[in-house]
Amino acid sequence: MKIAFIGLGNMGAPMARNLIKAGHALNLFDLNQAVLKELAELGGSISGSPRDAATGAELVITMLPAAAHVRSVWLGEDGVLAGIGQGVPAVDCSTIDPQTIRDVAAAAAKQGVAVADAPVSGGTGGAQAGTLTFMVGASADLFATLQPVLAQMGRNIVRCGDVGTGQIAKICNNLLLGISMVGVSEAMALGDALGIDTQVLAGIINSSTGRCWSSDTYNPWPGVIETAPSSRGYTGGFGADLMLKDLGLATEAARQAHQPVILGAVAQQLYQSMSQRGEGGKDFSAIINSYRKPK
Ligand code: NAD
Repeated sequence: MKIAFIGLGNMGAPMARNLIKAGHALNLFDLNQAVLKELAELGGSISGSPRDAATGAELVITMLPAAAHVRSVWLGEDGVLAGIGQGVPAVDCSTIDPQTIRDVAAAAAKQGVAVADAPVSGGTGGAQAGTLTFMVGASADLFATLQPVLAQMGRNIVRCGDVGTGQIAKICNNLLLGISMVGVSEAMALGDALGIDTQVLAGIINSSTGRCWSSDTYNPWPGVIETAPSSRGYTGGFGADLMLKDLGLATEAARQAHQPVILGAVAQQLYQSMSQRGEGGKDFSAIINSYRKPK
């Protein structure tokens, strides 16, 4: 299949590589020439704009940093909608607010194009291994068309409802993750300050009612879980600035819906302080340092 792939960063590049490996012909576009060259060597062809990439493609996929990039790549003068053929399926995999993708989908529908949102979880490791989870917002028909291609980049392809619902699933999950990591950090640091061995405490929590992914798989206390970023200096995980972005999406969507997200707002401020201290590039579990006495 001829696929336009736009946005070839930490996530998009390995996803595109998996599609090339699966035998698809890719029209590639990114602002970064180095990554375009690297992927062209694997067999993709370089396009001059999102419009050129979409022209003649049988499917369009985008993977961009934030909503402003999605609007310009889709709706701009040289954007995807200026080149895409009528009836060609399309999907944006970026993590953005639900309203932006609904606006893009409404503009696309006017020219007979159906657009889905399919944000992912699984990080860069999942993108490389082709084991991502896709949270898809699409009609049942569009989902059926996209599913086999998404399955070449991921393991878990879930239809959440119509367009926009993939983003809703993603931001609600990450809202909870951001909060639960703060909660585990608070409990672990309190236990340490009061004098219990943190391994013992983690063992109790992980076999008791406080257990959650942030405690049993990704515990923020160094050494509790050998494979967690906390055990390697908070490197190589999910950056605090990305968590801050997702909490911003959740609190903004909540504002629009007049829905309180009290703990989410507190968590957002904690990650914002971490970012202000210059630690936004560290894994988000380093939020525990907000609770630990400096050594
Ligand atoms: P990234 O910054 O590494 O890559 C984004 C790419 O988009 C870059 O190569 C950039 O050059 C390109 N780009 C920006 N503007 C463009 C434009 N106008 N035209 C064409 N290309 C343009 O980001 P990433 O880590 O790949 O993340 C992409 C999305 O996936 C984000 O929304 C992020 O929140 C989400 N996400 C990331 C992770 C992760 O672990 N990195 C995990 C899940 C979801």
